[in-house]
Amino acid sequence: MEDNKFCTGCGKPLEPGMQFCPQCGKVVSGSQTEEEMKKEAKEFGKALLDVRRSWLLFFLGIYAIPAIIAAAIALADAPAAASAIWSSTEFQDWLVSHGYHFTQMDIQNYFTTGASLALASGICALISFICVYLRKYWIIAVAACAIASVLCFWSIFGLFIGIMVTFMIVGAKDGFVDTAAPAE
Ligand SMILES: [Zn+2]
Repeated sequence: MEDNKFCTGCGKPLEPGMQFCPQCGKVVSGSQTEEEMKKEAKEFGKALLDVRRSWLLFFLGIYAIPAIIAAAIALADAPAAASAIWSSTEFQDWLVSHGYHFTQMDIQNYFTTGASLALASGICALISFICVYLRKYWIIAVAACAIASVLCFWSIFGLFIGIMVTFMIVGAKDGFVDTAAPAE
């Protein structure tokens, strides 16, 4: 780095080897001090991404794991749940009073569809979690998180958090090792 002859802040002439301008105190550009400050800024940026990554893993994990477990249980339990609701007199009365013509199978399908959506959403969130954890395939991480959010449309809260996390992943893409991979 060649020494700057004049301060970039105030224009005062500088002596060779000066780290700070004696007039305004600005760090001389190209000086060793400036290089060190740049390095520190870079390390700070990396630390910030690490913190954000922890939050991403927290959000994705806290959603994916319970969603998959609950959905798997609901899926396995759908016939029993449908049967239990079907056999309740309150439900039969409710059907008659509203003039609905559901069958027990319709109810079971309703449960199965809901649980399948939740399962797919949870699995997508898990895929995103794994990508964020590995710091790899950020595009897949973003896409999987977006799909998980959309599949969570039945919960405005889940949809909102999902979209927020999706944007957080996009913002943290510099923290992935393959940021140079072909993007959109
Ligand atoms: Zn100056």
